[in-house]
Amino acid sequence: MSPKANILLTPGPTPLPPQVREAMARPILHHRTREFGQLFDFVLNEMRAVYRTRNTVLLMTTSGTGAMESAAVNLLSPGDRVVVHTTGVFGDRFAAILEAYGMEPVVVAEEWGCAADPRKLEAALRSLSAVKAVFFQHTDTSTGVLNDVRALAETVRRNSDAVIVVDSVSGLAAEPLETDAWDLDVVVTGSQKGLMCAPGLAFAAVSERAWKLVESAKLPRFYFDWRRMRKSLPDLETPFTPAITVIAGQAEALKLIRKEGLENVWKRTAALAAYARARGQELGLELFARNPSNILTALRLPPGVDGDILTARLLAEDGISIAGGQGRLKGHLLRVAHMGYISRADLEAGFAALARRLAPAAA
Ligand SMILES: *Cc1c(COP(=O)(O)O)cnc(C)c1O
Repeated sequence: MSPKANILLTPGPTPLPPQVREAMARPILHHRTREFGQLFDFVLNEMRAVYRTRNTVLLMTTSGTGAMESAAVNLLSPGDRVVVHTTGVFGDRFAAILEAYGMEPVVVAEEWGCAADPRKLEAALRSLSAVKAVFFQHTDTSTGVLNDVRALAETVRRNSDAVIVVDSVSGLAAEPLETDAWDLDVVVTGSQKGLMCAPGLAFAAVSERAWKLVESAKLPRFYFDWRRMRKSLPDLETPFTPAITVIAGQAEALKLIRKEGLENVWKRTAALAAYARARGQELGLELFARNPSNILTALRLPPGVDGDILTARLLAEDGISIAGGQGRLKGHLLRVAHMGYISRADLEAGFAALARRLAPAAA
């Protein structure tokens, strides 16, 4: 057996570039200093470039789910009508968050592996009045589908005055997304996927249309109150102690994205995705997603192969982390990520190990 590697092919966290690791090893700054203020300002400006927006960008010390929750509590009041168009685990999470706050979201559900169909969203919006917000994913990491965010957003605009909330935790800086050109009101993301940093930061880009709701929303909020975050922005501060070390790492990752060029990042990720789809199919595995994203490739395992055992052995014996299926897909899927700092060499090593483990004689 070849020496054990240590390769992350998981859809978050993703591997860290050496510059990011180095930045996080530096002595810590205090967050009420000019030096931190400059770092914070740099990160917010670069995030605006990655989001392709002129809207306000907020930084939160939390994982991506915290940013999803912050969108719910800052936009809504009890009794508001909201729609969630779900394509898997993460759309269902939006619905669960809303339900936790006593909301009763109208859920438009797709069969897992299918992208959100704008016609279904249109039918739902036409049957409802006074919809306040529509929630959906850019890429649903549980199934590997890419949603047509632009078409979904146009559908919302044509049929309602609702704000559009997009979860691009796994999509941003990997798949094309145009916050302003597509007129998206809130786009949330996290630091540990396409953004090539450690977990711990989340961001929200918030439009003027959304800020109007933020002012009137009545759901309870304290730590995640966007009004408080916006108020401290002119001082280049956060209301509470932020994950300073992770912000230092995020700044380095954003420099790398700036240097490569965001569109080149999208192209590189697309090329890795094409490679992963081809290698997966060469191994006789079927693509799970009908409209596959470039962030990860979801591969359906043949009957008789237990995905949980396979991924456990890949990790323990080959040193390669590949995610299995989530929720009802547990044991039936492999999800091979190719976002962020994951390289062609990482993917080659991952597929070579997978090929050995799937070969009947090696089992
Ligand atoms: C990873 C992810 C999240 C957030 O997960 P956290 O573990 O809270 O960071 C949300 N949505 C999608 C689509 C994701 O891939």
